[in-house]
Amino acid sequence: MLPHQLFIYNSLTRSKDLFEPLVPGFVGLYVCGPTVYGAPHLGHARPYITFDILQRYLHHLGYKVRYVRNITDVGHLENDADEGEDKIAKKARLEQLEPMEVVELYTQQFHEAMRALNNQPPGIEPRASGHIIEQIEMIRAIMANGWAYESNGSVYFDVPGYSKKHDYGKLSGRIVEDLIAGAGNERRELEGQDEKRNPADFALWKKASPEHIMRWPSPWSNGFPGWHIECSAMSTKYLGETFDIHGGGMDLLFPHHESEIAQSKGACGKAPVRYWMHNNMITINGQKMGKSLGNFINLEQFFNGSHPLLSQAYSPMTIRFFMLQAHYRSPLDFSNEGLQAAEKGFARLLNANKTLAQLKAGPSSTSDIAGVEQGFYAAMSDDLNTAIALSHLFEAARIINSVHAGTETISAADLDNLRRFFPLFLFNLLGMREEQAADNGALDGLMQMLLRMRADAKAKKDFATSDRIRDELGALGIRIKDEKDGTTSWLKD
Ligand code: ZN
Repeated sequence: MLPHQLFIYNSLTRSKDLFEPLVPGFVGLYVCGPTVYGAPHLGHARPYITFDILQRYLHHLGYKVRYVRNITDVGHLENDADEGEDKIAKKARLEQLEPMEVVELYTQQFHEAMRALNNQPPGIEPRASGHIIEQIEMIRAIMANGWAYESNGSVYFDVPGYSKKHDYGKLSGRIVEDLIAGAGNERRELEGQDEKRNPADFALWKKASPEHIMRWPSPWSNGFPGWHIECSAMSTKYLGETFDIHGGGMDLLFPHHESEIAQSKGACGKAPVRYWMHNNMITINGQKMGKSLGNFINLEQFFNGSHPLLSQAYSPMTIRFFMLQAHYRSPLDFSNEGLQAAEKGFARLLNANKTLAQLKAGPSSTSDIAGVEQGFYAAMSDDLNTAIALSHLFEAARIINSVHAGTETISAADLDNLRRFFPLFLFNLLGMREEQAADNGALDGLMQMLLRMRADAKAKKDFATSDRIRDELGALGIRIKDEKDGTTSWLKD
């Protein structure tokens, strides 16, 4: 297989399809971003690492990539069926903040977590609240085509009407007749449902109740957009009516992505996306992650080991490496054992990279270096199979250690090649980086002093001070790790 022939699994066709961009040399990539109402957690790490790997690999293959990832700061209600409070407005009410203070706080935390995980930022990061006009325009176009109706100041997408001409449910495999019949929909009695002509219909615009703070004028009411319309409006604005790749977690297939397709077709008659990619979900010790289950671990807690389910702190690169050890379409179960194995595995590759600098060439190679390189490309081009790609790097590490130990030899040409591609693959394409504890200079002396002060504060149960030391250091890019044996170490990003 040639490296430039990239195959990706397309959720729409349910097959691995050869990737061919709309415009040669260019790729338009849209990924659903976070709803910024809480601390970034593991569920954020997986999609954004997956699509970071995709854009790094596309770039390596020579494409110019326009990567758009939004920030959802309005319109995402507590419940996917257009009910409940806006997630951000609710958090603002509970914390006695302005909704936009909530948005700023968690957007910054999200960016910090993404930097720690070494995800490259998207080229454009549009916010839903900054694109109300575009969303209103799109809703008007859908209404003009007859696929949406106004009801009491709100606007709903007419799923039964649309389904007479277009597929609704194709992406997610839902049967539209079941949706229209309201099968499994126990929430019909709830507020707002009587505005809909059919339980399958979804909100494009919602009239704001008097207590709702986040509201904008529109032709229909003072209100706010539905959750799905922002992604359709912003992807169309920055990538065009049809673009190459749309990514997100599998949990977004329905209703979010299904509705995005309907909205785009409803507005301009064209399917918006050629390749739909979805990463699988994460479980923790075999259980679904959820706030009510007590296993909801945010990323900062992983980085400093402060959650009771964690037996130690895990660095951002350990989390990243752990994720790369599974294919993005496989479910992934987090456990302390798995993370500890990932930590060791990454250390082995880093050590091999250091040993590589000291190797001396021999007359010939006893192992197939070109095969390792080709194997890595073949795995990455096979729907980004990072698990297999890493196995080739482990094979390279084995060869490096054997040559170093004198049980194998390597030719000068192969050694040059290995020195070129091993760090390229590990650091540039897989996005790993070295995380080193700083050396024992003045900084370490200061840090030890701060860590003693923090330990004293903790001993006196002055958790406000101990947390403040940890958080302020965190803002400086210094992470504190509480180890299992009671000692504390620290790392600089
Ligand atoms: Zn989206």
